[in-house]
Amino acid sequence: MERSQTKELIEEVINELKKQSFMDIGDKKERDKVLESAGEILKTTDKIIKSYIRVSRDGGEIECIPAYRIQHNDISGFYKGGIRFSEEVSESEVENLAILMTLKNALHGLPFGGAKGGVHVNPRKYTERELNLISKKYVQRFALNLGPTQDIPAPDLGTDEKIIDWMVGEYKTINPGQAYIGSFTGKSVENNGARGRRESTGIGTFLSYFYLLNEWFADKKENIPVEYKERSKQWRTFEKLYEKFKEADPVEIAVQGFGNVGSVAALEAYNCSEVKHSVTAVSDQFVTLINKEGLNIEKLAAYEKENKGLPKTTQHLKEANLEAEIKKPEDLLTFHTDVLIFAAIEDQVTKENMQDIKADILVEGANAPVSVEADLFLQNKGKVIVPDILANAGGVHVSYLEWKQSRVTELYSKDQILQEMGSQMKETLKKVYDEYFKSTEHTMRFTCYSIALRRLITLLYRHGKLF
Ligand code: NAD
Repeated sequence: MERSQTKELIEEVINELKKQSFMDIGDKKERDKVLESAGEILKTTDKIIKSYIRVSRDGGEIECIPAYRIQHNDISGFYKGGIRFSEEVSESEVENLAILMTLKNALHGLPFGGAKGGVHVNPRKYTERELNLISKKYVQRFALNLGPTQDIPAPDLGTDEKIIDWMVGEYKTINPGQAYIGSFTGKSVENNGARGRRESTGIGTFLSYFYLLNEWFADKKENIPVEYKERSKQWRTFEKLYEKFKEADPVEIAVQGFGNVGSVAALEAYNCSEVKHSVTAVSDQFVTLINKEGLNIEKLAAYEKENKGLPKTTQHLKEANLEAEIKKPEDLLTFHTDVLIFAAIEDQVTKENMQDIKADILVEGANAPVSVEADLFLQNKGKVIVPDILANAGGVHVSYLEWKQSRVTELYSKDQILQEMGSQMKETLKKVYDEYFKSTEHTMRFTCYSIALRRLITLLYRHGKLF
Protein backbone atom coordinates (compact mmCIF):
# COMPACT_ATOMS: atom_id res chain seq x y z
CA MET A 1 0.00 0.00 0.00
CA GLU A 2 1.59 3.21 -1.19
CA ARG A 3 1.74 6.69 0.32
CA SER A 4 -1.03 8.00 -1.96
CA GLN A 5 -3.32 5.14 -0.91
CA THR A 6 -2.68 5.80 2.78
CA LYS A 7 -3.55 9.47 2.33
CA GLU A 8 -6.67 8.60 0.28
CA LEU A 9 -7.83 6.27 3.02
CA ILE A 10 -7.33 9.02 5.64
CA GLU A 11 -9.52 11.27 3.49
CA GLU A 12 -12.18 8.57 3.10
CA VAL A 13 -12.34 8.10 6.86
CA ILE A 14 -12.60 11.86 7.43
CA ASN A 15 -15.49 12.01 4.92
CA GLU A 16 -17.20 9.17 6.75
CA LEU A 17 -16.70 10.93 10.10
CA LYS A 18 -18.45 13.99 8.64
CA LYS A 19 -21.60 11.85 8.31
CA GLN A 20 -21.42 10.93 12.00
CA SER A 21 -21.24 13.25 14.96
CA PHE A 22 -18.43 11.69 16.94
CA MET A 23 -17.41 15.04 18.46
CA ASP A 24 -19.94 16.85 20.54
CA ILE A 25 -19.18 20.36 19.27
CA GLY A 26 -21.10 23.10 17.49
CA ASP A 27 -23.30 22.54 14.47
CA LYS A 28 -22.59 20.42 11.39
CA LYS A 29 -20.84 23.29 9.59
CA GLU A 30 -18.43 23.77 12.47
CA ARG A 31 -17.80 20.03 12.80
CA ASP A 32 -17.07 19.71 9.08
CA LYS A 33 -14.61 22.60 9.28
CA VAL A 34 -12.83 20.97 12.24
CA LEU A 35 -12.63 17.64 10.38
CA GLU A 36 -11.34 19.29 7.22
CA SER A 37 -8.57 21.09 9.14
CA ALA A 38 -7.69 17.81 10.88
CA GLY A 39 -7.56 16.03 7.50
CA GLU A 40 -5.19 18.64 6.07
CA ILE A 41 -2.91 18.39 9.12
CA LEU A 42 -2.81 14.61 9.11
CA LYS A 43 -2.21 14.33 5.36
CA THR A 44 0.75 16.70 5.68
CA THR A 45 4.09 15.53 7.03
CA ASP A 46 5.72 17.73 9.68
CA LYS A 47 9.33 17.34 8.57
CA ILE A 48 11.24 15.51 5.82
CA ILE A 49 14.98 15.46 6.36
CA LYS A 50 17.20 14.01 3.66
CA SER A 51 20.95 13.72 3.89
CA TYR A 52 23.82 11.76 2.37
CA ILE A 53 26.11 9.46 4.26
CA ARG A 54 29.64 9.25 2.86
CA VAL A 55 31.30 5.93 3.60
CA SER A 56 34.80 4.78 2.82
CA ARG A 57 34.49 1.16 1.71
CA ASP A 58 37.09 -1.38 2.81
CA GLY A 59 38.46 -1.31 -0.75
CA GLY A 60 39.20 2.44 -0.47
CA GLU A 61 36.40 3.87 -2.68
CA ILE A 62 33.98 6.44 -1.27
CA GLU A 63 30.22 5.92 -1.52
CA CYS A 64 27.52 8.49 -1.03
CA ILE A 65 24.31 6.97 0.35
CA PRO A 66 20.92 8.73 0.62
CA ALA A 67 19.46 8.68 4.16
CA TYR A 68 16.17 9.96 5.59
CA ARG A 69 14.45 10.80 8.85
CA ILE A 70 10.83 11.71 8.32
CA GLN A 71 8.63 13.00 11.15
CA HIS A 72 4.98 12.81 10.25
CA ASN A 73 3.03 14.02 13.29
CA ASP A 74 3.58 14.36 17.05
CA ILE A 75 0.16 15.36 18.36
CA SER A 76 -0.02 12.15 20.42
CA GLY A 77 3.57 12.23 21.73
CA PHE A 78 7.25 12.28 20.79
CA TYR A 79 8.00 11.06 17.28
CA LYS A 80 8.69 7.32 17.16
CA GLY A 81 9.54 4.89 14.38
CA GLY A 82 12.15 2.44 13.12
CA ILE A 83 15.13 2.90 10.84
CA ARG A 84 15.41 0.57 7.86
CA PHE A 85 18.45 -0.31 5.81
CA SER A 86 17.26 -1.43 2.40
CA GLU A 87 17.90 -0.83 -1.29
CA GLU A 88 14.16 -0.14 -1.69
CA VAL A 89 14.31 2.91 0.62
CA SER A 90 12.94 6.09 -0.98
CA GLU A 91 11.45 9.29 0.35
CA SER A 92 7.88 8.24 -0.45
CA GLU A 93 8.33 4.82 1.17
CA VAL A 94 9.75 6.31 4.38
CA GLU A 95 7.04 8.98 4.50
CA ASN A 96 4.32 6.35 4.10
CA LEU A 97 5.83 4.31 6.94
CA ALA A 98 5.99 7.44 9.14
CA ILE A 99 2.25 8.09 8.56
CA LEU A 100 1.51 4.46 9.45
CA MET A 101 3.45 4.93 12.72
CA THR A 102 1.28 7.93 13.68
CA LEU A 103 -1.84 5.87 13.02
CA LYS A 104 -0.50 2.76 14.76
CA ASN A 105 0.44 4.60 17.95
CA ALA A 106 -2.93 6.37 18.02
CA LEU A 107 -4.82 3.11 17.38
CA HIS A 108 -3.08 1.43 20.31
CA GLY A 109 -3.32 4.47 22.57
CA LEU A 110 0.47 4.74 22.91
CA PRO A 111 1.87 8.15 23.86
CA PHE A 112 3.96 8.56 20.69
CA GLY A 113 3.66 10.26 17.32
CA GLY A 114 4.90 8.85 14.02
CA ALA A 115 8.29 8.95 12.30
CA LYS A 116 10.50 6.66 10.23
CA GLY A 117 14.07 6.52 9.04
CA GLY A 118 15.76 4.87 6.12
CA VAL A 119 19.15 4.38 4.52
CA HIS A 120 19.36 3.31 0.88
CA VAL A 121 21.75 0.35 1.37
CA ASN A 122 21.65 -3.40 1.19
CA PRO A 123 23.28 -4.29 4.54
CA ARG A 124 24.35 -7.69 3.20
CA LYS A 125 26.78 -6.00 0.84
CA TYR A 126 28.69 -4.16 3.59
CA THR A 127 31.23 -5.34 6.11
CA GLU A 128 30.79 -4.89 9.85
CA ARG A 129 33.17 -1.90 9.88
CA GLU A 130 31.29 -0.24 7.01
CA LEU A 131 27.91 -0.82 8.68
CA ASN A 132 29.27 0.63 11.91
CA LEU A 133 30.33 3.74 10.02
CA ILE A 134 26.96 4.07 8.27
CA SER A 135 25.10 3.72 11.59
CA LYS A 136 27.24 6.31 13.37
CA LYS A 137 27.01 8.76 10.47
CA TYR A 138 23.23 8.35 10.38
CA VAL A 139 23.11 9.60 13.98
CA GLN A 140 25.55 12.44 13.22
CA ARG A 141 23.37 13.62 10.31
CA PHE A 142 20.09 13.58 12.24
CA ALA A 143 21.28 14.13 15.85
CA LEU A 144 19.64 17.54 16.19
CA ASN A 145 16.25 16.00 15.51
CA LEU A 146 16.62 12.87 17.65
CA GLY A 147 16.43 12.31 21.43
CA PRO A 148 14.38 10.71 24.22
CA THR A 149 11.93 13.63 24.31
CA GLN A 150 12.04 14.39 20.60
CA ASP A 151 12.20 11.44 18.23
CA ILE A 152 13.00 7.89 19.31
CA PRO A 153 14.08 5.41 16.58
CA ALA A 154 14.05 1.58 16.77
CA PRO A 155 15.13 -1.29 14.50
CA ASP A 156 13.22 -2.19 11.34
CA LEU A 157 13.93 -4.08 8.12
CA GLY A 158 17.68 -4.66 7.75
CA THR A 159 18.60 -3.25 11.19
CA ASP A 160 18.91 -4.97 14.56
CA GLU A 161 19.95 -4.46 18.18
CA LYS A 162 23.64 -4.37 17.27
CA ILE A 163 23.09 -1.42 14.92
CA ILE A 164 20.87 0.31 17.48
CA ASP A 165 23.56 -0.15 20.18
CA TRP A 166 26.10 1.55 17.88
CA MET A 167 23.63 4.38 17.26
CA VAL A 168 23.03 4.91 20.99
CA GLY A 169 26.81 4.99 21.53
CA GLU A 170 27.14 7.72 18.90
CA TYR A 171 24.19 9.68 20.30
CA LYS A 172 25.87 9.63 23.74
CA THR A 173 29.18 10.84 22.28
CA ILE A 174 27.45 13.72 20.47
CA ASN A 175 25.40 14.71 23.54
CA PRO A 176 27.73 14.39 26.59
CA GLY A 177 26.03 14.68 29.95
CA GLN A 178 22.52 14.26 28.56
CA ALA A 179 19.99 11.50 29.12
CA TYR A 180 20.63 9.01 26.33
CA ILE A 181 19.19 5.62 27.36
CA GLY A 182 15.70 6.49 26.13
CA SER A 183 16.99 7.94 22.84
CA PHE A 184 16.56 4.62 20.98
CA THR A 185 14.54 1.48 21.65
CA GLY A 186 15.32 -2.03 20.45
CA LYS A 187 18.72 -1.92 22.19
CA SER A 188 20.35 -5.15 23.40
CA VAL A 189 19.36 -6.20 26.93
CA GLU A 190 23.01 -5.72 27.97
CA ASN A 191 22.70 -2.11 26.82
CA ASN A 192 19.47 -1.30 28.73
CA GLY A 193 17.13 -2.77 26.11
CA ALA A 194 13.83 -4.38 27.03
CA ARG A 195 13.82 -8.11 27.45
CA GLY A 196 11.57 -9.60 24.78
CA ARG A 197 11.77 -6.58 22.40
CA ARG A 198 13.29 -8.64 19.55
CA GLU A 199 10.52 -11.24 19.74
CA SER A 200 7.67 -8.82 20.45
CA THR A 201 6.56 -7.93 16.90
CA GLY A 202 6.50 -11.59 15.81
CA ILE A 203 4.67 -12.64 19.00
CA GLY A 204 2.12 -9.82 18.58
CA THR A 205 1.60 -10.66 14.91
CA PHE A 206 0.76 -14.28 15.69
CA LEU A 207 -1.41 -13.14 18.61
CA SER A 208 -3.52 -10.88 16.41
CA TYR A 209 -4.67 -13.90 14.38
CA PHE A 210 -4.77 -16.42 17.24
CA TYR A 211 -6.72 -14.13 19.59
CA LEU A 212 -9.26 -13.49 16.81
CA LEU A 213 -10.19 -17.16 16.50
CA ASN A 214 -9.27 -18.62 19.85
CA GLU A 215 -10.76 -15.94 22.08
CA TRP A 216 -12.82 -13.37 20.19
CA PHE A 217 -14.65 -15.76 17.84
CA ALA A 218 -14.81 -18.55 20.45
CA ASP A 219 -16.63 -16.16 22.75
CA LYS A 220 -19.21 -15.14 20.14
CA LYS A 221 -19.79 -18.29 18.07
CA GLU A 222 -22.51 -19.95 20.20
CA ASN A 223 -24.63 -16.88 20.32
CA ILE A 224 -23.79 -14.71 17.33
CA PRO A 225 -25.04 -11.16 17.88
CA VAL A 226 -27.42 -10.15 15.08
CA GLU A 227 -25.22 -7.28 13.92
CA TYR A 228 -22.24 -9.60 13.37
CA LYS A 229 -24.24 -11.89 11.06
CA GLU A 230 -23.92 -9.26 8.33
CA ARG A 231 -20.36 -10.42 7.79
CA SER A 232 -21.59 -13.89 6.91
CA LYS A 233 -18.75 -14.76 4.50
CA GLN A 234 -16.07 -14.00 7.07
CA TRP A 235 -18.07 -15.76 9.71
CA ARG A 236 -18.09 -18.93 7.58
CA THR A 237 -14.31 -18.60 7.17
CA PHE A 238 -13.98 -18.55 10.97
CA GLU A 239 -16.31 -21.49 11.42
CA LYS A 240 -14.34 -23.54 8.91
CA LEU A 241 -11.03 -22.71 10.55
CA TYR A 242 -12.30 -23.04 14.09
CA GLU A 243 -13.35 -26.61 13.30
CA LYS A 244 -9.65 -27.31 12.87
CA PHE A 245 -8.98 -26.01 16.39
CA LYS A 246 -10.88 -28.98 17.74
CA GLU A 247 -9.57 -31.60 15.34
CA ALA A 248 -6.25 -33.35 15.05
CA ASP A 249 -5.88 -31.57 11.70
CA PRO A 250 -3.43 -28.72 12.23
CA VAL A 251 -4.05 -25.15 11.08
CA GLU A 252 -1.66 -24.52 8.19
CA ILE A 253 0.50 -21.41 8.23
CA ALA A 254 2.74 -19.84 5.58
CA VAL A 255 5.16 -17.05 6.49
CA GLN A 256 6.71 -14.62 4.01
CA GLY A 257 10.02 -13.26 5.35
CA PHE A 258 12.12 -15.07 7.95
CA GLY A 259 13.85 -12.25 9.84
CA ASN A 260 13.02 -10.66 13.20
CA VAL A 261 9.28 -10.75 12.67
CA GLY A 262 8.75 -13.79 10.43
CA SER A 263 10.98 -16.29 12.23
CA VAL A 264 9.37 -15.45 15.60
CA ALA A 265 5.80 -15.55 14.25
CA ALA A 266 6.62 -18.96 12.70
CA LEU A 267 8.08 -20.18 16.01
CA GLU A 268 4.96 -19.02 17.88
CA ALA A 269 2.81 -21.11 15.52
CA TYR A 270 5.20 -24.06 15.70
CA ASN A 271 5.29 -24.06 19.50
CA CYS A 272 1.64 -23.13 20.10
CA SER A 273 0.50 -25.53 22.83
CA GLU A 274 -3.22 -24.69 22.78
CA VAL A 275 -3.93 -25.47 19.11
CA LYS A 276 -1.94 -27.57 16.69
CA HIS A 277 -0.39 -25.53 13.89
CA SER A 278 1.76 -26.67 11.03
CA VAL A 279 4.07 -24.16 9.33
CA THR A 280 4.10 -25.61 5.84
CA ALA A 281 5.89 -22.82 3.95
CA VAL A 282 8.38 -20.06 4.75
CA SER A 283 10.32 -17.75 2.48
CA ASP A 284 13.00 -15.12 2.45
CA GLN A 285 14.44 -12.90 -0.28
CA PHE A 286 16.01 -15.86 -2.10
CA VAL A 287 13.89 -18.96 -1.55
CA THR A 288 10.60 -20.54 -0.49
CA LEU A 289 10.76 -23.78 1.49
CA ILE A 290 7.73 -26.05 1.51
CA ASN A 291 6.89 -29.17 3.47
CA LYS A 292 3.23 -30.20 3.49
CA GLU A 293 3.84 -32.23 6.67
CA GLY A 294 5.23 -29.16 8.42
CA LEU A 295 8.69 -27.60 8.49
CA ASN A 296 10.96 -27.89 11.50
CA ILE A 297 10.91 -24.20 12.44
CA GLU A 298 13.28 -24.54 15.39
CA LYS A 299 15.98 -25.96 13.15
CA LEU A 300 15.26 -23.37 10.46
CA ALA A 301 15.46 -20.51 12.96
CA ALA A 302 18.78 -21.83 14.26
CA TYR A 303 20.06 -22.14 10.68
CA GLU A 304 18.89 -18.62 9.81
CA LYS A 305 20.58 -17.16 12.89
CA GLU A 306 23.88 -18.79 12.00
CA ASN A 307 23.76 -18.19 8.23
CA LYS A 308 21.71 -14.96 8.01
CA GLY A 309 19.27 -16.60 5.60
CA LEU A 310 17.26 -19.77 4.93
CA PRO A 311 18.90 -22.85 3.33
CA LYS A 312 18.89 -22.20 -0.43
CA THR A 313 20.06 -25.53 -1.89
CA THR A 314 19.44 -29.23 -1.33
CA GLN A 315 23.02 -29.38 -0.03
CA HIS A 316 22.24 -26.70 2.60
CA LEU A 317 19.08 -28.58 3.60
CA LYS A 318 21.01 -31.82 3.92
CA GLU A 319 23.70 -30.19 6.05
CA ALA A 320 21.02 -28.76 8.35
CA ASN A 321 19.17 -32.10 8.44
CA LEU A 322 15.98 -30.51 7.11
CA GLU A 323 13.39 -31.74 4.65
CA ALA A 324 11.74 -29.30 2.26
CA GLU A 325 10.96 -28.59 -1.36
CA ILE A 326 12.77 -25.57 -2.76
CA LYS A 327 10.73 -22.99 -4.71
CA LYS A 328 11.06 -19.38 -5.82
CA PRO A 329 10.37 -16.63 -3.20
CA GLU A 330 7.19 -15.40 -4.97
CA ASP A 331 5.64 -18.91 -4.89
CA LEU A 332 4.85 -18.52 -1.20
CA LEU A 333 2.12 -15.94 -1.77
CA THR A 334 -0.15 -18.23 -3.79
CA PHE A 335 0.48 -21.34 -1.70
CA HIS A 336 -2.54 -23.29 -0.32
CA THR A 337 -2.65 -22.45 3.38
CA ASP A 338 -5.13 -21.39 6.06
CA VAL A 339 -3.17 -18.41 7.34
CA LEU A 340 -0.64 -16.28 5.46
CA ILE A 341 1.63 -14.08 7.58
CA PHE A 342 3.49 -11.25 5.83
CA ALA A 343 6.82 -10.42 7.43
CA ALA A 344 8.93 -9.02 4.60
CA ILE A 345 8.29 -5.92 2.50
CA GLU A 346 5.54 -3.71 1.03
CA ASP A 347 3.29 -4.19 -1.99
CA GLN A 348 3.13 -7.97 -2.07
CA VAL A 349 -0.55 -8.41 -2.91
CA THR A 350 -1.90 -6.00 -5.52
CA LYS A 351 -4.48 -6.09 -8.29
CA GLU A 352 -1.99 -8.10 -10.38
CA ASN A 353 -1.96 -11.17 -8.13
CA MET A 354 -4.93 -10.80 -5.74
CA GLN A 355 -7.01 -13.41 -7.63
CA ASP A 356 -4.38 -16.05 -6.89
CA ILE A 357 -4.32 -15.72 -3.09
CA LYS A 358 -5.65 -18.86 -1.45
CA ALA A 359 -5.15 -18.24 2.28
CA ASP A 360 -8.29 -17.53 4.35
CA ILE A 361 -6.68 -15.23 6.89
CA LEU A 362 -3.94 -12.77 5.92
CA VAL A 363 -1.95 -11.11 8.70
CA GLU A 364 0.20 -8.06 8.00
CA GLY A 365 3.25 -8.46 10.23
CA ALA A 366 5.08 -6.42 7.58
CA ASN A 367 4.09 -2.85 6.83
CA ALA A 368 1.83 -2.21 3.84
CA PRO A 369 2.02 -5.61 2.04
CA VAL A 370 -1.59 -5.53 0.74
CA SER A 371 -2.93 -2.76 -1.51
CA VAL A 372 -6.28 -1.09 -0.91
CA GLU A 373 -7.86 -2.75 -4.00
CA ALA A 374 -6.60 -6.18 -2.96
CA ASP A 375 -7.82 -5.65 0.60
CA LEU A 376 -11.39 -5.00 -0.56
CA PHE A 377 -11.32 -7.75 -3.21
CA LEU A 378 -10.12 -10.38 -0.73
CA GLN A 379 -12.57 -9.28 1.95
CA ASN A 380 -15.44 -9.62 -0.54
CA LYS A 381 -14.33 -13.22 -1.11
CA GLY A 382 -14.78 -13.90 2.62
CA LYS A 383 -11.13 -13.63 3.59
CA VAL A 384 -10.02 -11.76 6.70
CA ILE A 385 -7.14 -9.31 6.44
CA VAL A 386 -5.64 -8.16 9.75
CA PRO A 387 -3.94 -4.85 8.87
CA ASP A 388 -0.40 -3.80 9.73
CA ILE A 389 -1.17 -1.04 12.21
CA LEU A 390 -3.14 -3.57 14.25
CA ALA A 391 -1.08 -6.74 13.81
CA ASN A 392 2.51 -5.56 14.02
CA ALA A 393 2.27 -3.25 17.04
CA GLY A 394 3.86 -5.69 19.52
CA GLY A 395 7.24 -4.07 18.89
CA VAL A 396 6.12 -0.53 19.58
CA HIS A 397 4.22 -1.65 22.70
CA VAL A 398 7.45 -3.09 24.06
CA SER A 399 9.41 -0.08 22.78
CA TYR A 400 7.12 2.05 24.92
CA LEU A 401 7.95 -0.12 27.96
CA GLU A 402 11.66 0.12 27.08
CA TRP A 403 11.43 3.91 26.87
CA LYS A 404 9.42 3.99 30.11
CA GLN A 405 11.95 1.82 31.96
CA SER A 406 14.69 4.25 30.87
CA ARG A 407 12.81 6.95 32.78
CA VAL A 408 12.29 4.89 35.92
CA THR A 409 15.75 3.22 35.61
CA GLU A 410 14.37 -0.16 36.56
CA LEU A 411 14.40 -3.21 34.31
CA TYR A 412 11.20 -5.20 33.87
CA SER A 413 11.42 -8.99 33.56
CA LYS A 414 10.73 -10.62 30.18
CA ASP A 415 7.50 -12.14 31.56
CA GLN A 416 6.31 -8.76 32.80
CA ILE A 417 7.06 -7.17 29.45
CA LEU A 418 5.41 -9.82 27.29
CA GLN A 419 2.39 -10.06 29.60
CA GLU A 420 1.87 -6.31 29.51
CA MET A 421 2.32 -6.24 25.72
CA GLY A 422 -0.14 -9.13 25.30
CA SER A 423 -2.85 -7.57 27.45
CA GLN A 424 -2.48 -4.14 25.80
CA MET A 425 -2.60 -5.72 22.33
CA LYS A 426 -5.70 -7.74 23.24
CA GLU A 427 -7.49 -4.60 24.40
CA THR A 428 -6.97 -2.96 20.99
CA LEU A 429 -7.67 -6.19 19.08
CA LYS A 430 -11.03 -6.55 20.85
CA LYS A 431 -11.94 -2.91 20.19
CA VAL A 432 -11.19 -3.28 16.47
CA TYR A 433 -12.83 -6.69 15.97
CA ASP A 434 -16.00 -5.57 17.84
CA GLU A 435 -16.34 -2.49 15.64
CA TYR A 436 -15.33 -4.12 12.33
CA PHE A 437 -17.74 -7.05 12.51
CA LYS A 438 -20.65 -4.75 13.27
CA SER A 439 -20.51 -3.02 9.87
CA THR A 440 -20.45 -4.49 6.39
CA GLU A 441 -19.28 -1.45 4.51
CA HIS A 442 -15.62 -1.20 5.33
CA THR A 443 -12.39 -3.14 5.50
CA MET A 444 -10.70 -3.85 8.83
CA ARG A 445 -8.02 -1.36 7.75
CA PHE A 446 -10.71 1.31 7.48
CA THR A 447 -11.91 0.46 11.00
CA CYS A 448 -8.35 0.74 12.36
CA TYR A 449 -7.80 4.09 10.61
CA SER A 450 -11.14 5.34 11.91
CA ILE A 451 -10.31 4.51 15.55
CA ALA A 452 -6.82 6.01 15.19
CA LEU A 453 -8.06 9.17 13.46
CA ARG A 454 -10.80 9.73 16.03
CA ARG A 455 -8.12 9.79 18.71
CA LEU A 456 -5.80 12.07 16.72
CA ILE A 457 -8.60 14.49 15.81
CA THR A 458 -9.76 14.65 19.44
CA LEU A 459 -6.18 15.47 20.52
CA LEU A 460 -5.77 18.09 17.78
CA TYR A 461 -9.05 19.66 18.86
CA ARG A 462 -8.17 19.59 22.57
CA HIS A 463 -4.79 21.17 21.79
CA GLY A 464 -6.63 24.00 20.04
CA LYS A 465 -5.19 23.26 16.58
CA LEU A 466 -8.40 23.06 14.56
CA PHE A 467 -9.56 26.53 13.58
P1 NAD B 1 14.36 -8.37 8.80
O1 NAD B 1 15.32 -7.61 8.00
O2 NAD B 1 14.79 -8.95 10.10
O3 NAD B 1 13.72 -9.55 7.94
C1 NAD B 1 13.14 -9.35 6.68
C2 NAD B 1 12.94 -10.70 6.01
O4 NAD B 1 12.22 -10.49 4.79
C3 NAD B 1 14.24 -11.41 5.64
O5 NAD B 1 14.08 -12.79 5.84
C4 NAD B 1 14.36 -11.11 4.13
O6 NAD B 1 15.14 -12.07 3.43
C5 NAD B 1 12.90 -11.19 3.75
N1 NAD B 1 12.58 -10.58 2.46
C6 NAD B 1 13.01 -9.43 1.94
N2 NAD B 1 12.50 -9.28 0.70
C7 NAD B 1 11.73 -10.38 0.46
C8 NAD B 1 10.95 -10.82 -0.63
N3 NAD B 1 10.86 -10.11 -1.73
N4 NAD B 1 10.30 -12.02 -0.52
C9 NAD B 1 10.38 -12.75 0.59
N5 NAD B 1 11.11 -12.37 1.65
C10 NAD B 1 11.77 -11.21 1.58
O7 NAD B 1 13.12 -7.36 9.02
P2 NAD B 1 12.00 -7.40 10.15
O8 NAD B 1 12.44 -6.54 11.26
O9 NAD B 1 11.60 -8.82 10.39
O10 NAD B 1 10.82 -6.63 9.42
C11 NAD B 1 9.96 -7.27 8.50
C12 NAD B 1 8.75 -6.40 8.25
O11 NAD B 1 8.07 -6.15 9.49
C13 NAD B 1 9.04 -5.02 7.66
O12 NAD B 1 7.96 -4.65 6.81
C14 NAD B 1 9.03 -4.11 8.87
O13 NAD B 1 8.71 -2.77 8.56
C15 NAD B 1 7.91 -4.75 9.68
N6 NAD B 1 7.96 -4.43 11.11
C16 NAD B 1 9.05 -4.78 11.84
C17 NAD B 1 9.07 -4.47 13.19
C18 NAD B 1 10.21 -4.89 14.09
O14 NAD B 1 10.07 -4.76 15.31
N7 NAD B 1 11.29 -5.44 13.58
C19 NAD B 1 7.98 -3.78 13.78
C20 NAD B 1 6.89 -3.47 13.00
C21 NAD B 1 6.89 -3.79 11.66
